[in-house]
Amino acid sequence: MTAVLLVLAGLVGLAIGSFLNVVVWRVPRGESVVSPPSACPRCGHGIRPRDNVPVLGWLLLRGRCRDCGEPIAARYPLVEAATGLAFVAATAWLLTRDDGLWLLPAVWYLVAIGVALALIDLDTHRLPDVIVLPSYGVAAVLLAVASAGTDQWDALLRAAIGGAALWVFYFVLVLAYPRGMGFGDVKLAGVLGMYLAWVGWGALVVGGFAAFVCGGVYALGLVVTRRAGRKSGVPFGPWMLLGCAVGLVVGETLWGAYLDAALGA
Ligand SMILES: [Zn+2]
Repeated sequence: MTAVLLVLAGLVGLAIGSFLNVVVWRVPRGESVVSPPSACPRCGHGIRPRDNVPVLGWLLLRGRCRDCGEPIAARYPLVEAATGLAFVAATAWLLTRDDGLWLLPAVWYLVAIGVALALIDLDTHRLPDVIVLPSYGVAAVLLAVASAGTDQWDALLRAAIGGAALWVFYFVLVLAYPRGMGFGDVKLAGVLGMYLAWVGWGALVVGGFAAFVCGGVYALGLVVTRRAGRKSGVPFGPWMLLGCAVGLVVGETLWGAYLDAALGA
């Protein structure tokens, strides 16, 4: 059962990753993600279904268009593979939890928008409203499903409070340091706060904190290696998402250990 679920997660992740390549390219340009179908940007030939199989299609074509030989960026199969791995990792984590399978739809949705938003933020320094704003509704519904299935309605209340709390925290930060981040980050913070707080207050605290640790280390690395000055913008969305993953997986454990140490000392 476990192995079947992990394989299924990987296959779903590969397929979603293939769709996310379209999302990441078209959403920042304001284009539809369903039409027209994908085509070679050079010769305009449509991508055949058999060539559109995630990762394998690209490998069998040796990274070139079947019609004109134009190279196809390695980023496409890499995004597909990374999304597949992220789905497997998320599902493996869910299997360690008693309530895991009820939380699965909510977490799979988070992984999908997380990959898309991280890539769009890296590409364009934006977190598009068309992805972030509907996610409040989707997350609320899917977390309600998890609460209903596991009879944890207190978790849903926590999610509402946590989402609002992280939103307010980022809102104040942006007002105080407008150069550091933007309102796209504030809007994403509300969604991530809902997920983190559903899992627990420890997850919320650790997940919120981990974003600044990860982002800070990265920014420091850029300054030290002189690839960026102190004033260059560093997209913060990917670090918020990475921090959220850390908070969800180890937040409760870390926070418990911290409290034990702090109270025991
Ligand atoms: Zn072509």
